Amino acid sequence: MSTEEYSTPKPCAPFRPVVCATCLFIFGCGRAILNTNPVVIEGTTMGTTYSVKLVSSGDTKDPARFADAPDIARTVLQTIDNMMSTYKPDSELSRFNQHKDTSPFPVSREMIEVFTIARRISDMSGGAFDITVGPLVNAWGFGPENRGGKIPTDSEIDALKQRVGYTKIVIDSDASTLRKTQPDVYCDLSAIAKGYGVDQVAKALDSLGIANYLVVVGGEVRAKGVNAQGHPWQVAVEQPDAVERTPYRVVSLSNCAISTSGDYRNYFEKNGQRYSHEIDPKTGRPVTHRLASASVVVDTSAFTDAFATAMMVLGPEKAYDLALTRGLAVFLLIRREDGKFDERQTPAFAALLTAPKASVIQQGD
Ligand code: FAD
Repeated sequence: MSTEEYSTPKPCAPFRPVVCATCLFIFGCGRAILNTNPVVIEGTTMGTTYSVKLVSSGDTKDPARFADAPDIARTVLQTIDNMMSTYKPDSELSRFNQHKDTSPFPVSREMIEVFTIARRISDMSGGAFDITVGPLVNAWGFGPENRGGKIPTDSEIDALKQRVGYTKIVIDSDASTLRKTQPDVYCDLSAIAKGYGVDQVAKALDSLGIANYLVVVGGEVRAKGVNAQGHPWQVAVEQPDAVERTPYRVVSLSNCAISTSGDYRNYFEKNGQRYSHEIDPKTGRPVTHRLASASVVVDTSAFTDAFATAMMVLGPEKAYDLALTRGLAVFLLIRREDGKFDERQTPAFAALLTAPKASVIQQGD
């Protein structure tokens, strides 16, 4: 059984100003940035929203390229949704989950790619990230069926934990099959497939020849080139707040991806205790540490999406140590007793920061 080694992500290339500053607004350098309004494409996908911002580089072929982009973006995301949703009983993933057998199950190239990336991050995080955690996610009410905040019993959790473990999946990329070593394994790609969808849209925009774009699906963001002002895309990491959406830090991004996972949007409270959707496969329960959010910046969105979840499951100390060891750009916000936040950022993340706290949330420009 061969598995593709997913290449270790590349940190983002430091942003180099586009061509010469004076050329930004004067045609003739071949890549002048016209100060035009970005073209914005929006829609819904995977139970959330998406937006794609395109900025012309002044290339005369851009209008035709931009005209094709909306249909291509929508089709790409619809395809990923139909492949990787646990909310659709007939998706490719749901059919694999329903395959209560240990025989090889033929899947698409995209599924092999996502399972390979997931496996890589499970290995890196010591199993903190684990897509086979699906039965526990559902039991805690964070999957397709609403359980109204019902807390599973200890014996239910112990029984479900027997079905969890990322090594219970065998990936055969040559044969393009997945195999369970235990028939009742059930996978949940909610922490990686949105990011993978962003990467697939980015790939399609690259093949159209589009030089500047910002792709956002749910909280997964990928930036290429510059915004309409000819600067790196300005993306805000928000304050971990269940109600308000206020920026906490603004990051300048060009040619890379950022994802933030947190415990402040998808959770319920019972008897004063918060139960979030980040499940520790080892305990079978939502994490209980004080890490409120983890932001990760590398070159691809599938990686940032999954690695941000791995950070949330590991907790503040182990997450920081892993990010530092791997040389990754990671920013952690840790909840304090007084309701404020302590920050921890790796040196690679510190290098990305531009202005301190911004006044308005910005996704793009
Ligand atoms: P992230 O931190 O990115 O992911 C957290 C999620 O990952 C959890 O909700 C859980 O599902 C899973 N998880 C928890 N612990 C772990 C762990 N240790 N290792 C790995 N994974 C873990 N939602 C709807 O309401 N309706 C829909 O129709 C719908 N369709 C979807 C289709 C697809 C293809 C996908 C990928 C998701 C869909 N969702 C849907 C779910 C929704 O889009 C989000 O994915 C979900 O809310 C979590 O994303 P997040 O960014 O908030 O959190």
